[in-house]
Amino acid sequence: MIQSEHIQRQDPQIAEALHNEEQRQRDTIELIPSENFVSLAVREALGSVATNKYAEGYPGKRYYGGNQHIDIIEQLAIDRAKQLFGAEHANVQPLSGAPMNLAVYAAFLQPGDTVLGMDLAHGGHLTHGHPVTFAAKVFRFVRYACDPETGAIDYDAVREMARREKPKIVLCGFSAYSREIDYEKFHAIAKEVGAVSMMDMAHIAGLVAGGVLKNPVPMMDIVTTTTHKSLRGPRGGMILCKEEFAKAIDKAVFPGLQGGPHQNQIAALAVALGEAMQPEFKTYAQQVVANAKVLCDVLHTGGMRILFGGTDNHLILADVTPLGLSGREAQELLDSVSITINKNMIPLDPRKPMDPSGIRLGTPAMTTRGMKEEEMRVIGSAILEVLRNPTDATLHAKVRDEMIALARRFEA
Ligand SMILES: *Cc1c(COP(=O)(O)O)cnc(C)c1O
Repeated sequence: MIQSEHIQRQDPQIAEALHNEEQRQRDTIELIPSENFVSLAVREALGSVATNKYAEGYPGKRYYGGNQHIDIIEQLAIDRAKQLFGAEHANVQPLSGAPMNLAVYAAFLQPGDTVLGMDLAHGGHLTHGHPVTFAAKVFRFVRYACDPETGAIDYDAVREMARREKPKIVLCGFSAYSREIDYEKFHAIAKEVGAVSMMDMAHIAGLVAGGVLKNPVPMMDIVTTTTHKSLRGPRGGMILCKEEFAKAIDKAVFPGLQGGPHQNQIAALAVALGEAMQPEFKTYAQQVVANAKVLCDVLHTGGMRILFGGTDNHLILADVTPLGLSGREAQELLDSVSITINKNMIPLDPRKPMDPSGIRLGTPAMTTRGMKEEEMRVIGSAILEVLRNPTDATLHAKVRDEMIALARRFEA
């Protein structure tokens, strides 16, 4: 149970909604790859007195007094981030992923300048210049793609594009791509055209921290990451970079883009980074990947078309149209049996973003709850059973009961 006696007394409407949300989380098989469950220690820090404090500036250089304790907290977050990822510099103030990437663009680009990034339907993220974003109105985004069947990136083609388009930033990073990236090659291409190399590791930061995926930080000029996905911290963003870019990044975050940092969030991040440094976190990261491979195999064997030929990380992008369904239909059917995933565009998708061909699933959340390969097999089979029998209400009721019971056996 959440500690909510004060909310309950003062604001029953919010207390009730929070209580219901807690129950929903407890009773759901959570396969949205960007979600996770933070520890109680992280939640305590988020709900702490640090939320009361204004601290514009950076440790030791604040525009407000009374920051002697806040400085210790932020400096610990910075030091732990640098140690965990081997970074020369860390900025822990970005309020979330979108402002963190905007800060990097603001640090290195003038309006009209070009960014070379991954095609959004091939795994790139909205904040990498989707036409609906503010960044896309100000900067010019050009895109490379990967082979939908194997996930291979044609680095010669990327180099050709870089030579032709003259980007100021060469960006790799993704939210729906399941393979490893060759950071050396991306960095070399960026240097060849005089650009800054940037990796957005939002999805995989926990797997990098846990040592199961290559660490881009020693290679790339700038690495951005959200802190609330596989890294299992509070919602937030973080920018890691080489010392030579530290000033530009810090100025772009504050005062360039943000005002007072959320010090409760930074305290919670420090706690989460401390957790990610423990040996148990390595075991966690290994299990996340092992679980994803098993789930991927089950879905592939059951008739889904797996994009990029499999997974090296926590993510699975699958085309469900071979089962006679759209991504939206699959999402709604699975929602009805207490399994949450999300619909997603696939490369060269003939369908529309609100009703695409694919679904995206991931294992960080349920691995935190303690699930292993055996549970992934059960869940994968349940997913296939429901999607193959989209109108069988009796079956759906049975699977729903089973999934709720399974979720309850693995409490957060
Ligand atoms: C989630 C994500 C973001 C954005 O993070 P928000 O905190 O939702 O703003 C940025 N980049 C990538 C690659 C992501 O996966």
